[in-house]
Amino acid sequence: MMSRPRRILILGSTGSIGVQALSVIGQSEELELVGLSARSSWETLVEQARAFGVERVALSDAQAAEPAAAAWPDGEVLAGSEGVAELIVESGADLVLNAIVGSAGLGPTIATLGEGIDLALANKESLVAGGELVTALAQATGAQIIPVDSEHAALHQLIAAERATAGPGTIERLTITASGGPFRGMSSQQLQSVSIADALAHPTWEMGGKITIDSSTLMNKGLELIEAHHLFDVPYDRIDVVVHPQSIVHGCVALCDGAVLAHLGHPDMRVPIAYALHHPERVELPVVRLDLAAIGSLTFEPVDLETFPCLGLARAAAAAGGTAPCILNAANEVAVHAFLAGRIAFTAIAEVIEATLATIEARPLAEFEALFAADREAREVARAALDQVRPVPDRG
Ligand code: MG
Repeated sequence: MMSRPRRILILGSTGSIGVQALSVIGQSEELELVGLSARSSWETLVEQARAFGVERVALSDAQAAEPAAAAWPDGEVLAGSEGVAELIVESGADLVLNAIVGSAGLGPTIATLGEGIDLALANKESLVAGGELVTALAQATGAQIIPVDSEHAALHQLIAAERATAGPGTIERLTITASGGPFRGMSSQQLQSVSIADALAHPTWEMGGKITIDSSTLMNKGLELIEAHHLFDVPYDRIDVVVHPQSIVHGCVALCDGAVLAHLGHPDMRVPIAYALHHPERVELPVVRLDLAAIGSLTFEPVDLETFPCLGLARAAAAAGGTAPCILNAANEVAVHAFLAGRIAFTAIAEVIEATLATIEARPLAEFEALFAADREAREVARAALDQVRPVPDRG
């Protein structure tokens, strides 16, 4: 039992992960919410602050802070990315949940770890782009990074148990599973005419728009591959991705004696969220219990790398290292945004990323400023590439 509640700050509280985290906190006596942030959804943010008795929030979109402050005279509203940083640094939080979407989460990740505050990380992009600089910062300040991504939460649990009892060198390989997304089994030809609604219809997980598109291109697995490498310090050639349409097995750890440990459960993000918020404690959760006999069969198949080139692009960027994963991530964000805006075809997402990676030379990573510069340059190049790729097909 903890002597006092753990103080939690949620960044990106109006998104899918943020809302589910609030439901976990609302059901726990051991967690206390001390602050919230969002990009621009100020009405929801103020509503959440009132419901949880929070006195301070931040809106990274400074224009949204004005109406929020006017509507909520009892509380304090900080504005802009400086406001988000101030919220983190002055929060007195024991743990920050970073549930921001995209590389906009990198600055808040750095601010959190720089203060030595433990980080529950749902923003995989900040680890993809920030790589070894982010993990080195955590090591320097002694802050822990606890993954909220379901596959990585699974691996975190399996690896923690193994490393606690066995010597070094016992872990041979990691496996992360992929549902395969809504387009599993399709040909490249068929993919050329899929719609935004088709891509947003994920078969097993309910998630926000950006990650759902990333799941449909398999870029999500590419980002997760890089995330796993940095979190667990395992080389890329020893991390496998396998398609598992039921999304019941989330991750596996293969050991030197041939044993393989797997983590199973129904796809429900409240499980990894609660794990990260309560770590290292466990709490009871009202989620559906696993009934293997009722499920009947679990199936696995290799990834179709030819039809879904994004995973290969991510592996190549990971191998190149330096700023390459940051460039990959920025180009992907621009391309996904353009696809969701109806500007480019689904298959053009990979084309934009490939063109951006081919245009910009990756540089070694020495400091965070180089990352922000690489992110800016990649966005410019990717935006220019949007005009060179396949437009949205004519649906007549
Ligand atoms: Mg995941």
